[in-house]
Amino acid sequence: MTKKIAVFAGDGIGPEVMDEALRVLLRVNDKYSLGMEIEKGLVGGCAYDQHGTPLPESSLKLAKSADAVMLGAVGGLKWDTLDYSLRPERALLGLRGELDLYANLRPAKVHPALADASTLKREVVDGVDIMVVRELVGGMYFGKPKGVEKLPDGTERGFNTEVYTTPEIERIAKVAFEVARKRGKKLCSVDKANVLESSGLWRRVVIEVAKAYPDVALSHMYVDNCAMQLIRWPNQFDVIVTNNMFGDILSDEASMLTGSIGMLPSASLSGKKGMYEPIHGSAPDIAGQGKANPIATILSVAMMLDYTFDASSAAKEIENAVTKALDGGYRTADIYSDGMKKVSTKEMGDVILKAIA
Ligand code: NAD
Repeated sequence: MTKKIAVFAGDGIGPEVMDEALRVLLRVNDKYSLGMEIEKGLVGGCAYDQHGTPLPESSLKLAKSADAVMLGAVGGLKWDTLDYSLRPERALLGLRGELDLYANLRPAKVHPALADASTLKREVVDGVDIMVVRELVGGMYFGKPKGVEKLPDGTERGFNTEVYTTPEIERIAKVAFEVARKRGKKLCSVDKANVLESSGLWRRVVIEVAKAYPDVALSHMYVDNCAMQLIRWPNQFDVIVTNNMFGDILSDEASMLTGSIGMLPSASLSGKKGMYEPIHGSAPDIAGQGKANPIATILSVAMMLDYTFDASSAAKEIENAVTKALDGGYRTADIYSDGMKKVSTKEMGDVILKAIA
């Protein structure tokens, strides 16, 4: 059966990194006879320029009809003065909401060849391979009531609501246990159950869901301790599951263990369906110069093959090809150090393609 992938390259370096990712995707598609079909569309600033909206109806329809969505990056100075409702970044929120992408998976893996790129010592980050599973459509960012109100004394009161229901916690916990099962079989649930009622419920529900996963070792950690432990001893973690706000912060912290934003992919899932994208933005400062690192987007292809299409051998081959390119000393400018071979976006794509036999 044909598998349809909606591709939105977006703005800035988006199209440059997506070109390389699609070359890799087409190669493994042929090699493993995966039967993938690609259809391209517009989202972000480029969509605004053509259609007057960052997420045109036709693009949303394409995304909904596809098995998976690949996204480059959106945004840029040109659109920064638009009303918030028309900004390129609105397209991301629109896609997440419309596709109900409730589970955000952000791996933070330190490649041995790049361990010195981290701001932490090599002995702390060597071997780090963490997956943060963040709840993406609930909690404080969406909870009601929210707002800012005037008080009788003339001051103001701003408020948001941290709210989770049992089904919302159950579904994200299940995703996290499934992910842990595919990896090191260790899951750490991060909350603030010593202070927040919603976290108390979160912990109780995660413990309940754990009964169906006796092969996965579950632990719990308060978020403040987790922020500390990620810097102190990151190797203790395999999979972390947490709510929207804690996940926002912890996944950025975890990604910085690796030292380079150009290396990290992500997945946002609703069951098997997913949207896959690099964690970086459109990098207007280097757009159009052939300097962008395409590895984050190429590894997003690997995540898509793994999580949406269960094509784990093809995914592994892409990951191995990336490792081989790095071990061979090839570096885009963002990860370059003395003695290495500096390559352009396309040249990095060439080296990775060559490593896929
Ligand atoms: P950014 O991630 O685009 O760039 C931050 C820094 O990292 C820049 O110096 C950039 O050159 C570098 N960088 C990023 N990706 C790189 C890559 N693949 N290779 C080499 N270097 C890379 O973040 P920003 O500068 O804060 O935002 C720029 C624009 O992107 C803004 O309009 C912002 O709203 C948008 N943005 C979009 C997304 C997304 O599409 N998911 C995410 C974040 C920011």
